[in-house]
Amino acid sequence: RFSTAAAIEDPIAPPVQVNYTQLLIAGKFVDSASGKTFPTLDPRTGEVIAHVQEGDAEDVNRAVCAARKAFDEGPWPKMTAYERSRILLKFADLLDKHNDELAALETWDNGKPYEQAANIEIPMCSRLIRYYAGWADKIHGLIVPADGPHHVQVLHEPIGVAGQIIPWNFPLLMFAWKVGPALATGNTIVLKSAEQTPLTALYAAKLLHEAELPDGVVNVVSGYGPTAGAALASHMDVDKLAFTGSTETGMIVQELAARSNLKPVTLELGGKSPFIIMDDADVDQAVELAHFALFFNQGQCCCAGSRTFVHESVYDEFVEKAKARALKRVVGDPFKKGVEQGPQIDDEQFNKVLRYIRSGVDCGATLVTGGERAGSKGFYIQPTIFSDVKDNMAIAQDEIFGPVQSILKFKDLNEVIQRANASKYGLAAGVFTNNIDTANTLMRALRVGTVWINCFDIFDAAIPFGGYKMSGVGREKGIDCLKNYLQVKAVVSPLKNAAW
Ligand code: NAD
Repeated sequence: RFSTAAAIEDPIAPPVQVNYTQLLIAGKFVDSASGKTFPTLDPRTGEVIAHVQEGDAEDVNRAVCAARKAFDEGPWPKMTAYERSRILLKFADLLDKHNDELAALETWDNGKPYEQAANIEIPMCSRLIRYYAGWADKIHGLIVPADGPHHVQVLHEPIGVAGQIIPWNFPLLMFAWKVGPALATGNTIVLKSAEQTPLTALYAAKLLHEAELPDGVVNVVSGYGPTAGAALASHMDVDKLAFTGSTETGMIVQELAARSNLKPVTLELGGKSPFIIMDDADVDQAVELAHFALFFNQGQCCCAGSRTFVHESVYDEFVEKAKARALKRVVGDPFKKGVEQGPQIDDEQFNKVLRYIRSGVDCGATLVTGGERAGSKGFYIQPTIFSDVKDNMAIAQDEIFGPVQSILKFKDLNEVIQRANASKYGLAAGVFTNNIDTANTLMRALRVGTVWINCFDIFDAAIPFGGYKMSGVGREKGIDCLKNYLQVKAVVSPLKNAAW
């Protein structure tokens, strides 16, 4: 029924086909209650890859019931932590074993370069799952000294059924970031994938069951936000919600969570991250890093370095060299070797990015290079650079989520700190300097969740990630993420013989 040829123009990717298009509820692939399906498209052409079962409120309810049963009756939260860890380790091994197939499926559904998916992203998934497998049997409570003759214990317990909503820009990586910590801490899950990229979550959920995850512990519902997503956010039997996506939708799901059962919410939202290049910078290196910071993943990163602040003393040289680098960027079929940039995810994002490019021109920024679609089919956009960008322009304020670099000029450190912080977002920042005092000052002054000094986009499983301000609530990865999935219970009992 499905084309298996679309992905196979180039031998660097293995043949791939779509095997899983149903919802995964209580350990079984099932059709949606309504019988409806939706198409998932190949961003290279806009053609249909597969029709996927479309979950809505009824399916979410079935999935939450399955997760509730798996939580309340076990065995998952009641298994030894060591057993849970072993299942996660088996899952990580299976991700490695199916690395190239998963990468090919991800590229087909999302449009990202196959080499990026195969060599960076899928390996990051198994690494992160192993990191959290390591935590499973090292989570424990405390005995605390209290006033008076009382024995006081603090227990850390799983929170229950976790609802998880993920975006399309890193479909499998976001799946791993969500399920890893929730499973290590003994929770059960209903996950809604993004409607643009439902395929790898279903494949990975199948692998979780091959690793002997008990039925009902992870349920995957494909479907749209306002139907399936909203049903999950407002479900009375979901104990915790974790969301990644746009700030606008983050506000909606937080409200739905509050108006239903006050479930705690963690949010990983948008950004407009500054990348600050100081006057002592090696311009060639700064150009390369700033290029990577913005253009990686077609510019579709929440933490993209999308405000490139360049010191006036190196500004002209930087703009010239940034243009030369963008012109060299290899845009094309993401299945081909050496391709750095594939298509945007869909026509909506494609048109949105082109609208922002037009607004940059209309506002008087200088279009240095690019600005048009690339090729004649699919959702490809030329690597685009604007210089002479002013802080009040939309291209300097809004998350474009595309291959559009906005370069801004600054004179001194205090000025750039103030301008970099003058954003509703606070997800990340990049700093490029050889001066340790400058680096230290910026690192402390920037109101963001991550500061990368002389590097960018370093995503280790152990490093916490999340936003200040309207970029989010809470942290993912690292130790900090574990507490999102733990309840804290205080237990107090009298000590009969105070001397002991
Ligand atoms: P989105 O926020 O609408 O979608 C993210 C997820 O939320 C998807 O699974 C979607 O189905 C779901 N969703 C949408 N509406 C919902 C609702 N009412 N209730 C519950 N769930 C809902 O993001 P998008 O439309 O895919 O992209 C729009 C913009 O979001 C992009 O242009 C980009 O700026 C931003 N974005 C940010 C990230 C990030 O990682 N920070 C990721 C993707 C998109």
